[in-house]
Amino acid sequence: MHISSRAVSPWLGLVLYGIGAAAQALPATTLFEVDFSTDAEGGCRTVGAGRIQELLDEALALAYTDVQLVDYDSQPETNRLLDVFVNGNDAESRDKFRDTSQLVIDFLENNVYRQSGGTPYPFCSDTWLVRYSLDDNALNSDGKEFSLVDEGPLATIRQVPEYMKARANSPGKSPYWSLKHKNYLFDYSYGVGRGYCSKTKHMGATQGVLLPASITLCPQSFNEHRVLGSKTMTPLLSATIPQNPSQIPKTAQRLSTLLPSSSTLFHELFHLLLGIADSVPPGWKRTEEYEITDMGGMNAEQATMNPETYVATGVAYWYTTNTPPDNRNKVEFYGFFTTQG
Ligand SMILES: [Zn+2]
Repeated sequence: MHISSRAVSPWLGLVLYGIGAAAQALPATTLFEVDFSTDAEGGCRTVGAGRIQELLDEALALAYTDVQLVDYDSQPETNRLLDVFVNGNDAESRDKFRDTSQLVIDFLENNVYRQSGGTPYPFCSDTWLVRYSLDDNALNSDGKEFSLVDEGPLATIRQVPEYMKARANSPGKSPYWSLKHKNYLFDYSYGVGRGYCSKTKHMGATQGVLLPASITLCPQSFNEHRVLGSKTMTPLLSATIPQNPSQIPKTAQRLSTLLPSSSTLFHELFHLLLGIADSVPPGWKRTEEYEITDMGGMNAEQATMNPETYVATGVAYWYTTNTPPDNRNKVEFYGFFTTQG
């Protein structure tokens, strides 16, 4: 992890650099039910414990940065960022934003997990799920085929009321057998033998239907190894920020290009720790908002329930606090791209 050599911001009298950078998360094997011995069934052998730990440590640093963003709310740069990403930026929404970020810290540092179902799984692929069709023979909680009546024919998934009841919340979706939970999860059809991660845009997903809950990190989320702090800032003058984000200058370094690989896990941790129902912005035009330039359109309630908002502000403010200022001017991102001065 990048730690700035500039340790003190003298004119504020505050230590602003590198806070959170030394933060260390508990080992993945303490926080999660994780299998590093195999790649089968969503195991993380190839990814490895070191890489997972790096993601956890960076997620912790980002969570600390989001808390810091609220705690330093007397600074003009924190207010400019909060004004854009947490519309209204009143005391109540700042508290909600801080408390939600603190959930991530409490989990990663102290293993506080308030959701039901026991120690969650992280999976490094979607291979813990096996795609079936409704007319395939059903499996029971031992993973064995069975009959509904003595000596009768083997039951298909479609014939088992319990399974079809579970599917009622996801009409039209296909059954996926979880090799870990020994139960069916219903999800979109991605084609025969293909799962969630077969869509190259899918980086990660969290589910809380089958317990323990699980975070799936898709293999493509590990393709590029972008460490937090690895980007060099190329700011434009803040005077270039347009009224409308669709007119961002072509030469701008967009915040969306600065997101480290750990953003995926950090995002999914909000779904895991808040629960799926409480980690989607209510009444927003999409299930959740990933597009940073569209986040300014959400109200404060929506923003504080949108995981990617915490990613955007965490990464933005991390670079603001970890980049040495130029003539007291810090790099900022309230225009959705790097500006200074
Ligand atoms: Zn999400």
